[in-house]
Amino acid sequence: MSLTPQTIKTLLVVTFGAFAVWIAAPGENALAQRVVQCHSGGQGTIEECRERDAQSRNVRCRSGGTGTIEECRARDARTRTVRCHSGGSGTIEECRERDRSSRRVECRSGGRGTIEECRERDAQARQRGSSGSTDSGGVLPAGPGRISAGYFDRDYLRSENRQHLGIDTLAAAGSRIASPINGEVVTNRTDASDVMQAYLVIRASNGEEHVFGHISSSLNRGDRVRTGDEIGRVRSWPGQSGRSHVHWGVNRNGVAQAMSGSWGWGRAPADATREDAARRGWRNP
Ligand SMILES: [Zn+2]
Repeated sequence: MSLTPQTIKTLLVVTFGAFAVWIAAPGENALAQRVVQCHSGGQGTIEECRERDAQSRNVRCRSGGTGTIEECRARDARTRTVRCHSGGSGTIEECRERDRSSRRVECRSGGRGTIEECRERDAQARQRGSSGSTDSGGVLPAGPGRISAGYFDRDYLRSENRQHLGIDTLAAAGSRIASPINGEVVTNRTDASDVMQAYLVIRASNGEEHVFGHISSSLNRGDRVRTGDEIGRVRSWPGQSGRSHVHWGVNRNGVAQAMSGSWGWGRAPADATREDAARRGWRNP
């Protein structure tokens, strides 16, 4: 090919044109620096807008609903389930509440318990104080000695790995026990060789049965007792004199019907709840 003036002209035009296009094209750098209108409002470089748009974009939160990533993070944290100090799990807010209500305090009427337990126990102590039912000489199953374990007592659970279905009141071996109710003896197993297994059941006129554990009693099935009558004596704990106590439990439907599996007359499996116990008729004496 020979370089005619026409060819040279054509070559120059093409070369210059390409150069002009190259000059006119914004460099990558220039593009990145250009300020534009962001989708999510305001202005910024493309990079800034991308960041800002991402932050303000609504996403589906793990804990439900939608929100920005920042909002979701905060919300997820609030609804995240954690292990509570006092056992079980819940949101931080729920745990705080639960921990508060399970904290053990000194009860006015003696012993320790949760605020709820103390309230019940204090009310019982007040009632006993005003009913004057200690006048016949015997001690009541829940007084005046120190209560060493309450209904569903946490310390009891910790040391025995069993739930406690009644109230234990410390008393010297031989202490007299007065009936807290009018009723009729339905079971006397107080002659059990193991003090842990010894118990007496009295059915009240309202159908509830009261069980008294770790005692001796000469009453027979069918015997009627009145409030304040002596129903037995606290038995001794071989080798552990400080441990003798009377256990008192109350079951709305009858003690025998509530005993099955590893549920006894005074104790339940460690994982039993108050609701489980209530279904079997147990209540806090
Ligand atoms: Zn007990």
